[in-house]
Amino acid sequence: MALEHTLSIIKPDAVAKRAIGEILATFEQAGLSVVATKMKRLTRAEAEAFYAVHADRPFYAPLVEFMLSGPVVISVLAGENAVMHHRQLMGATDPTAAAPGTIRARFASNTRENAVHGSDSVENAQNEIAFFFAQTELCH
Ligand code: GDP
Repeated sequence: MALEHTLSIIKPDAVAKRAIGEILATFEQAGLSVVATKMKRLTRAEAEAFYAVHADRPFYAPLVEFMLSGPVVISVLAGENAVMHHRQLMGATDPTAAAPGTIRARFASNTRENAVHGSDSVENAQNEIAFFFAQTELCH
C-alpha cells in the first residue's frame, strides 16, 4: 500500500443539508487526513472544465448547473490507498445502489445530486488536485 492523495468535493446538495461536518468526520474517522480544504462557489468555466470528460453525455449540462447551484467544499485527503479508500467511503454513483453506511447512501438525493465527488485514479487525483490547489497549499 502506498501513501496517496485524492480530491474530495462536497457537492452543493450536501452543503445545503449541513452535512459538511459529518462528511469530513467520516473521512477522518476512517483514517484519511485532510491536508487542504476550502469552500467556494465554482465558476462556470471551472465546472465545465472539471467535468469535461463527460461533455458528450446527456447528464453533462444539468450536472454543470447543479455544481453551480451553491457552494462546494473542496479538500485534499491523504492516506494509505487514499483514492480507492475514499471511493469506498463515497459509495456508488446512484445512491439506490450505494452500500449502506456510505456517504451517498446517507446523504445523496439522486444520481446527479449525490453529495460527493472523489477522484477515480491516482493519475486523475493528481490532475484534479492541481486543478484546485497549488502544491504550497497542501499541509503535510
Ligand atoms: P462518480 O465518479 O461516481 O462521481 O461518477 P461519474 O464520474 O460517472 O459522473 C460524475 C457525476 O455526474 C456523478 O457523480 C453524478 O453527479 C453525475 N452523473 C453521472 N451519471 C449520471 C446519470 O446517469 N444521470 C445523472 N443525472 N447524473 C449522472
